Amino acid sequence: MGFTLHVAILVIDMLNDFVYGSLKCDNALKIIPRVKILIDTAREHGIPVIYVNDSHLPNIDGEFKKWGSHAIKGSWGAMIIDDLKPSERDFIIEKRRYSGFYGTSLDDLLRELKIDTLIVTGIHTHICVMNTVADAFYRGYKVIIPSDCVTTFNEEDHNWGLKYMKEIYGVEITSSNDILTRLGRL
Ligand code: ZN
Repeated sequence: MGFTLHVAILVIDMLNDFVYGSLKCDNALKIIPRVKILIDTAREHGIPVIYVNDSHLPNIDGEFKKWGSHAIKGSWGAMIIDDLKPSERDFIIEKRRYSGFYGTSLDDLLRELKIDTLIVTGIHTHICVMNTVADAFYRGYKVIIPSDCVTTFNEEDHNWGLKYMKEIYGVEITSSNDILTRLGRL
C-alpha cells in the first residue's frame, strides 16, 4: 500500500548528547544510515521532515532529576548530529519533555501541513519515541514506525516499546525498506 500525501517524517532527538555525549547510546549509530536514506527520499518526494529535539533550560529543567543535565538549548549537545543535518525546508520543533507534543507547536504545524500520518524515527524507542507516539494517538494521527530507524539503550526495552506501541496505540511496525518502496509509489 502506498502513502497519501498527508504523511510527515519525525526525527526525534538525534542530537549530539544522545548519540555521542552525556547520554551516549551506541545503538543510535546503527540507525543513522537508515534514517538518512529515509529523510533524503522523503525530501525528494516533498514529504515534510520534522526534527523534534530536546532543548533544555540549564540547571532547572524538570527532566534533569531523572537524567542529569543534557541537551542544553544552544549547546553542542542539543545540536542535531552532523550526519542528519536538516535541510532548509525541514522543520525543527524544540521540546523540554519526552513528548514532542507537550508544550510545543508540533500539533499546530502538523495541522497546517494537513498531515494525518506520521512516520516516526529516532531515539529512544520506549521513552521519547513512545511518549510522542502516545500523544499522536490521542490526537488521532496514524503512526508508522520503521523498526530499524528507532532504537534505545538495550534490545529488551526496544522490543518492549515496539510491542506496547503496536498493541496499545495501533502503530504499524515495519521496515525502512518497506517505507522506501511505498514512497517510490507515491
Ligand atoms: Zn531531555
